[in-house]
Amino acid sequence: MNKQYNYIIVGQGIAGTVLAFSMIKKGLQVLVIDDTNLSQCSKVAAGNFNPIVFKRLVKSWMADELIEYSDSFYKEAEEILNQHFYLKKEIVRIFGEEQEKAFWLKKAFDTDEGKYLSKTIATDFFTDVVNNPLGCAFVNNGCNLYVEKFLKVFRNYFIQHNQLLDEVFDYSQLVINENSVSYKKNTATKIIFCEGYKVAENPYFKWLPLKPAKGETLTVRIKNLPTDKIINKGVYILPIGDDLFIVGATYDWVNLNDNITENGRIEISEKLSKVINVPFEIISQQAGVRPSMIDRRPVAGLHPQHKTMGVFNGMGTKGVMLAPYFAKEFVDFLEDNIELNNEVDITRFIVEKK
Ligand SMILES: Cc1cc2nc3c(=O)[nH]c(=O)nc-3n(C[C@H](O)[C@H](O)[C@H](O)COP(=O)(O)OP(=O)(O)OC[C@H]3O[C@@H](n4cnc5c(N)ncnc54)[C@H](O)[C@@H]3O)c2cc1C
Repeated sequence: MNKQYNYIIVGQGIAGTVLAFSMIKKGLQVLVIDDTNLSQCSKVAAGNFNPIVFKRLVKSWMADELIEYSDSFYKEAEEILNQHFYLKKEIVRIFGEEQEKAFWLKKAFDTDEGKYLSKTIATDFFTDVVNNPLGCAFVNNGCNLYVEKFLKVFRNYFIQHNQLLDEVFDYSQLVINENSVSYKKNTATKIIFCEGYKVAENPYFKWLPLKPAKGETLTVRIKNLPTDKIINKGVYILPIGDDLFIVGATYDWVNLNDNITENGRIEISEKLSKVINVPFEIISQQAGVRPSMIDRRPVAGLHPQHKTMGVFNGMGTKGVMLAPYFAKEFVDFLEDNIELNNEVDITRFIVEKK
């Protein structure tokens, strides 16, 4: 029997999951199509979000709005699904040079960033385990989503509600009509593609100017490190319980695949050895490809010729923080014709395409 939906979403990474839930909250009928094996990106994401860019001690793009919205989005998702996958975690910035401290304090007292920055320097932070002769300071609004659990919980939710097709989407079976699309026995008013970096294989959207970056992380066991804080200096060290920590990440713009490498392991291990002064045990290694656009902004909108198909992608290094806010904007655009943020709107690339 033919089934009718408002939207078909292809991809159940962070982008597709958050978009589907944003639509469901609005009472829309959604079908998600996903084969989890095509991209590991969301599964390997550490799930951090940090309002501060440490290099220049400035707020990351739209940090205030994104954090406020994501915070309420993930808390609401936890409540509705009756599961726990989101928490606040302070971020510890270990100083490498004396002048960084003076710069931090100036920023903490004199600028808008100050609301996120601690006003004092700590000199006694876990000194028996962490190398911090110059001290450290804290970012007080860091957050952490347990992405793997978040995706699993939602996958089960979609399965329970008959909203998931677990298969590779076959583009040749998509029928595009003026006011609807059909895929096998399913019809919808629109189809939205959220395939991460695999959008490069989508015949309708492969022209989007992607600049993907492969990243690797290690899961390591370290004794006696704090379990409620994310340490940052060259790498992040994120506690996940049972003395386990995710440490990362690398950047590689050439080898775009999900394979772990020896180089990745060595790079992260060496950086970690500089931050801590105790042994660690490597438990596992992960790799994925971040779907970044050339201008490092997300992309949302409809196909220039086929108005029944759209895309939600380009989450780059910050999917956890970006996806909720821009999924809401995209749903408001699709359902209520409210304009998209022009830095995210797909139309910014359409002139270049001609
Ligand atoms: C090492 C690493 C660490 C990271 N750490 C963080 C972090 O701490 N915080 C943060 O915010 N972000 C982090 N990121 C970035 C984050 O992972 C991405 O922004 C996000 O995962 C992108 O999600 P997505 O849904 O767009 O893509 P993806 O995660 O790639 O999801 C796409 C989904 O679509 C499926 N799919 C693709 N094509 C098809 C098809 N034809 N048919 C069926 N299914 C298909 C894929 O299998 C996959 O399930 C990290 C990334 C990496 C690599």
